[in-house]
Amino acid sequence: MELRSRVPEGPLAEKWERYRSEIKLVNPANKLKHHVIVVGSGLAGASAAASLAELGYTVSCFCFQDSPRRAHSIAAQGGINAAKNYQNDGDSVFRLFYDTVKGGDFRSREANVYRLAEISARIIDQCTAQGVPFAREYGGLLANRSFGGVQVSRTFYARGQTGQQLLLGAYQALERQVGVGRVTMYPRTEMLDLVVVDGRARGIVVRDLVTGAVASHVADAVVLATGGYSNVYYLSTNAKGCNVTAIWRAYRRGAAFANPCFTQIHPTCIPVTGHHQSKLTLMSESLRNDGRIWVPKKKGDTRPPQQIPEAERDYYLERVYPSYGNLVPRDVASRRAKDVCDEGRGVGPGGFGVYLDFADAIARLGRHVIAERYGNLFEMYERITAENPFDTPMRIYPAPHYTMGGLWVDYNLMTTLDGLYAIGEANYSDHGANRLGASALMQGLADGYFILPYTIGDYLAQAKLGKVGTDHAAFRQVEREVSERVDRLLTARGRKTPDAFHRDLGRLMWDKCGMSRNAPGLKQALAKVADMREEFSRNVYIGGKGEDFNQTLEHAGRVADFFELAELMCRDALHREESCGSHFREEFQTPEGEAKRDDARFGYVAAWEYTGAGNEPALNKEPLEFAVVHPAQRSYA
Ligand SMILES: Cc1cc2nc3c(=O)[nH]c(=O)nc-3n(C[C@H](O)[C@H](O)[C@H](O)COP(=O)(O)OP(=O)(O)OC[C@H]3O[C@@H](n4cnc5c(N)ncnc54)[C@H](O)[C@@H]3O)c2cc1C
Repeated sequence: MELRSRVPEGPLAEKWERYRSEIKLVNPANKLKHHVIVVGSGLAGASAAASLAELGYTVSCFCFQDSPRRAHSIAAQGGINAAKNYQNDGDSVFRLFYDTVKGGDFRSREANVYRLAEISARIIDQCTAQGVPFAREYGGLLANRSFGGVQVSRTFYARGQTGQQLLLGAYQALERQVGVGRVTMYPRTEMLDLVVVDGRARGIVVRDLVTGAVASHVADAVVLATGGYSNVYYLSTNAKGCNVTAIWRAYRRGAAFANPCFTQIHPTCIPVTGHHQSKLTLMSESLRNDGRIWVPKKKGDTRPPQQIPEAERDYYLERVYPSYGNLVPRDVASRRAKDVCDEGRGVGPGGFGVYLDFADAIARLGRHVIAERYGNLFEMYERITAENPFDTPMRIYPAPHYTMGGLWVDYNLMTTLDGLYAIGEANYSDHGANRLGASALMQGLADGYFILPYTIGDYLAQAKLGKVGTDHAAFRQVEREVSERVDRLLTARGRKTPDAFHRDLGRLMWDKCGMSRNAPGLKQALAKVADMREEFSRNVYIGGKGEDFNQTLEHAGRVADFFELAELMCRDALHREESCGSHFREEFQTPEGEAKRDDARFGYVAAWEYTGAGNEPALNKEPLEFAVVHPAQRSYA
């Protein structure tokens, strides 16, 4: 497999503008003749589908929810970054670019990250023009706050509902195109496989989740905007439906899967309370603007927080990282929380929690200011824990949240399969080994509104695509394979639910391939996942039938793919004998317990290639070259 990044020549700051002006265009009259499939209607998918249709392409958009508005993007709380420098605090395109490359621990592609920073300001203009109600200052300008890993305020927000408001903007744009007939929307339809004809992605096979009917759709190009796979851990901050199926099936058809082990554990989530839980709740990182993180200095101190005097508290992030304090990046904050809890200084039931305390901010700014900034988050916390954060500190602990890994893409956002694109969280993205807060929304919308609509034209203008229909042998073959997979699941008639398998897998992945990893643990996990997979194939119980609404069947298909992904994640984590960003290998750390990279051996993107059932995947490497930024040991002290 050849990994051609297709990064254009020229100075970093001029690459995108020049490239955009030079790539091939599709004649307006011909755009209508090109049919593009977009799978996913979250921020990445909805913005891409709307923009492509606005340009004149014929688009079909698919999602498994009953409405595009229910995509997981709606859950995003804290904000979206942009280098507008409204605060006049020294921000710039270069600084956003630099923060992102450094935050990702120098494991991302420079040219893509620079383009992202460059485009960021336009996203805010676009969304404001759509009517997205970003928070404003008294004088009417858009307001900003800070997120981890940066020293400027560049995060635009709509209270604690930024994703929801942005998605409503993208959804309106999408629905407009549905209204004028350029987008056909297929809700409650799950892509179960990709169809490749003559080496190019030419369509998908889907299952109608209401009737169970399996059908094919043909296109000139396929865009996967299907989100992240943190639910491999079972307990995560993601919506319950988030899964890996679309990109996993694409991987099995020839698209390389990059850096699968780079998974982000978010430091501020409501701690796990017991085995009954089916998901975890994020408390937005924006809270770290005003909340102070601490634990008691003494081990096993069970006094209520108000009874612990200042002198007996350890504001450990402020102590260890005075320059960034509570706003260190997520990987750093998560590891330090784990450390203090492992030392026996954690708080709350089970001792797996640290305090996020607003008392100082409330005293300084007043209760009403804090309520204005974070009102809905405080309310959400109180509803879940029955504790009021105005009166007592929140308790938080890290939880799986985001996946930097995903399908490998070139500068055009095309995968290693011609005609197959991956955007948003589904691609391996610009975040390297650790994403900075408020950068996922930025990336998804940059991909969907501003990058893909240009780059896909370059492909369509040049590809010589033969006429293909759903009666083509390749479609018939993939449909057969999909139906057989569904039947196999249904006929196992075992004794254990898909949910029980998923829970076991999640626990294993959290223990062995979670916040910290080591070689013996990863080897154990690889062996265990193989056993679990084997048991799943013969002992899963689903019930009901395929030609019907059957949510257990949906879940079973996703769990089956999570098992395969889990193996690849462990394999990737095992081969990467270094620590970088969120990938913390216990064997490779500095004396201070920070991630220790090995640029000489691992300064590359690991792009795994499927080589057939039962075979070991092949590792391909895209070397990372840094022409502008000089990789150094990250320091936030
Ligand atoms: C609780 C929470 C809060 C967050 N807050 C922030 C924040 O403040 N700022 C920030 O920048 N980021 C935030 N993030 C991250 C961010 O929300 C996501 O990375 C981003 O929204 C992903 O968008 P997406 O369009 O790539 O995917 P999604 O929004 O997950 O959309 C995926 C789409 O694909 C569809 N789909 C998936 N698989 C299939 C299939 N097989 N067939 C058909 N359709 C399929 C789904 O139906 C859906 O429409 C947060 C994440 C969480 C979990």
